[in-house]
Amino acid sequence: MTRRAAAERALSMPRSAIREIMALASTRENVIHLEIGEPDFSTPEHIITGAFNAVKEGFTKYTPNPGLPTLRAGIAEHVSNRPGCKVDPEQVVVTTGAVGGLFGALMAVTDTEDEVLVPDPGWPNYESIVHLAGAKAVRFNLDLKSGFVPSASQVETLITDKTKAIMINSPGNPTGVVFSHQTMKEIFELAGRYGLYVISDEVYEDIVFEGEHVSAASYGLEDQLFLISGASKSYAMTGWRLGYVICPSDLANVVASLQEPVASCAPSISQKAYEVALSADQNCVMDFREIYRRRRDVLVEEFGNTGLLPVVPAGAFYSLVNITDRHAKKGSLEFAKKLLLETNVAVVPGITFGPSCDHYVRVAFTTDDKALRKGLRILRDFIRHG
Ligand code: PLP
Repeated sequence: MTRRAAAERALSMPRSAIREIMALASTRENVIHLEIGEPDFSTPEHIITGAFNAVKEGFTKYTPNPGLPTLRAGIAEHVSNRPGCKVDPEQVVVTTGAVGGLFGALMAVTDTEDEVLVPDPGWPNYESIVHLAGAKAVRFNLDLKSGFVPSASQVETLITDKTKAIMINSPGNPTGVVFSHQTMKEIFELAGRYGLYVISDEVYEDIVFEGEHVSAASYGLEDQLFLISGASKSYAMTGWRLGYVICPSDLANVVASLQEPVASCAPSISQKAYEVALSADQNCVMDFREIYRRRRDVLVEEFGNTGLLPVVPAGAFYSLVNITDRHAKKGSLEFAKKLLLETNVAVVPGITFGPSCDHYVRVAFTTDDKALRKGLRILRDFIRHG
């Protein structure tokens, strides 16, 4: 007998178009990488030393499902330092990256056939996780005309009896947009009215250039909020796989219990390293932010007068670039492939982030200024003449 097929749930999981570009880029030499969504810095030395010390002290074993009590307390204190935020350690679950936190939150609140409102454009993993949870992703548009922020009245038209949660992401990937107090207020009013959970992905919270990061945790709704963040972007710790969820304590118990069969707990060594990251001075976070800001300014210098920047990014380390109607006819994936093959510059096709985004590609400021400037110039010329 031939063996049975792989699971339909696994095979039908939506997958990101970025894989095609990365696979193509890996076959070539001297590529300028504007596609990579992770900091290009090493983890700061004091955090690495903290990890080594933890290993020597014996932190090499399982931890409780929700994480080390000391780290849960450290995260609660860290988030409570923000204006209007009050978090208790029992509300904190330490997870395997923010992605583990998003997975835990969605698994904790969605049943089969529930609907989850997901931003378009938005990080493609949202849709994949909703799919794995057996629920259905319903896209809401981040409207270019309003600067890629959600419109509560438009979102409202998508709410049905099955809608369980809305996912938001500020600072945003791929837009670099930072939500204002007003936007957050409108989302929370809507969620409150319909009893929806808000799953707020704030993994880029420390990378804000203009204005301030407005955390969902300042908006009350203690009973309906899942705040997700972590170490990856703020401290250049992507490989340590360390994130967290903050939610009502009864749901934190659910999220923690879901970790048992999936990861048991976040890596103990990374948990200790993150304790060091949070308790030390935050100069490295500020230094990284300044570098991203400088690179963002390079982007504005190269693209500011072209009409090709839909918005000037105010946070995160990404920008969308408009590829114009001429290229958009063939779609952003074709454009990104052609750009790579003809010029050796790698970018992410906008279609990766949702059907509304096929007119764009995403560039990341995760390479040094010189390569970034060169790559952006090539991209600009290619959009015009390629
Ligand atoms: N959320 C967004 C919007 C991201 O862009 C990423 C990574 O690129 C993550 C979450 C995942 O972060 P982590 O490395 O902590 O899992």
